[in-house]
Amino acid sequence: QVRLRFAPSPTGLLTVGNIRTALFAWAFARHYGGKLVLRIEDTDAARNTPEALQYTLDSLRWLDIGWDEGPEVGGDFGPYKQTERMDIYADVVAKLLQAGKAYHCYCSQEELDQRREAARQAGQHSGYDGHCRTLTDEQVKAYVDEGRRPVVRLRMPDRPITFTDLVRGEITFLPENLGDYVLVRANGFPLYPLVNPVDDALMEITHVLRGEDLLPSTPRQIALYEALAEIGIGSGRTPRFGHLPFVMGEGNKKLSKRDPGAGLGEYMERGFLPEGLLNYLALLGWSIAEDRDVFTMTEMVEAFDIRKVNSNAARFDPKKCEAINASHMRLLEPAEFGRRVVPFLAKAGVLPAEPTDEQQQLLTAAVPLVQERMNSLSEAVDMLGFLFVPDEAFKVDADAAGKVLTGDAGAVLEASVKALSNLSDWTTEAIEAALRASLIEGLGLKPKNAFGPVRVAISGRRISPPLFESLELLGRDRSLHRLEHART
Ligand code: GLU
Repeated sequence: QVRLRFAPSPTGLLTVGNIRTALFAWAFARHYGGKLVLRIEDTDAARNTPEALQYTLDSLRWLDIGWDEGPEVGGDFGPYKQTERMDIYADVVAKLLQAGKAYHCYCSQEELDQRREAARQAGQHSGYDGHCRTLTDEQVKAYVDEGRRPVVRLRMPDRPITFTDLVRGEITFLPENLGDYVLVRANGFPLYPLVNPVDDALMEITHVLRGEDLLPSTPRQIALYEALAEIGIGSGRTPRFGHLPFVMGEGNKKLSKRDPGAGLGEYMERGFLPEGLLNYLALLGWSIAEDRDVFTMTEMVEAFDIRKVNSNAARFDPKKCEAINASHMRLLEPAEFGRRVVPFLAKAGVLPAEPTDEQQQLLTAAVPLVQERMNSLSEAVDMLGFLFVPDEAFKVDADAAGKVLTGDAGAVLEASVKALSNLSDWTTEAIEAALRASLIEGLGLKPKNAFGPVRVAISGRRISPPLFESLELLGRDRSLHRLEHART
């Protein structure tokens, strides 16, 4: 069975890069009917907070990237938070030491720096030189008596490490670039290069998808998996790796947390659809077919093939992200579209969180007017707010009033009131016919000058859903009230 993991460090923001990694791991696991494990890499207590963890979980839920094992759902390989696994790491390290796969290193930082510098000047590689690999008992005793506290290093094999990356093909690292590295600090703190592969081994992870920035750590991790397998820890099988291409932001630099559009929070607040955002993120390195940008997550899962991921860096394009989201907005059933805008209207105070039946009906009727025009759900506040505000609270935007409700506007509004007051039929067609007859034919105005003031008067804004439909939805009394009111 295929088992993947997403292993975030809950330090705050979840970026689009992190989410792309989670998405690809999720799609890979789902494609093969396997499992996605969510593992929380929270050992760095200074940088991890419970709030950030909750935010990470909430974000994944919002995206609908479900995990089969991990926090909140449990599983047979838990606990799934590394801070709850400290005893496990201590036990594994003891076994590695005992089997001679790892050893204590007493070198001080100054000694390391000196020797590294000397090696560099002699034109030799500058990784750890193996000084403590073969200490005698007396040497160890002398260091201990000096009060030195050792780190633990992995004994790296003296041969090249080659693996076939699922995205990048075969990669070889030479031993001179792979010094024995530190697994545990002198204060006993287990480091990422230890705990990450130990957990992959114990959780029987079969495939690791992660960012290209972690590629340099992979050969070291492979050496550790092999050492673990030799002493019977974990599944015994080294996972396959796929390193996902960098996501580039502004100025063709690696997307940073600070770049606009980099954090997930922005998209949630603006009211992107999770499926729209995920669809765009899927395109950062992968494609479903030539000339096809818009697809559902079900389609992605069905088609996903990690070997088709492009190893070139992918460029993050906020405009395209918005366009893909807009395409998904258009695909929603109107009733569903209505349901999804309610929280945004409620947050802006335009609607209660539980709208009345009447409000719900008005919303459902209004959806077809705006669905094609919106790029994100929060735009509903500006687009539809005028339909729901009580007339006493309705205000015309000052800028719109200043630009449009001037000059002839008074006459236009007066003629509109007259034309609409006696309309027997309050329908879009009848409203349009009456206003055209009165304003265009009657007053001889251009459409812009005729309908602009009417739009501002009833919607309060210069941009609104289609005018005649809006008037119909607003109803005769409210429309006339606003037209009268705007004249004064
Ligand atoms: N916790 C690591 C990170 O967030 C995970 C690295 C990995 O996937 O191996 O960068």
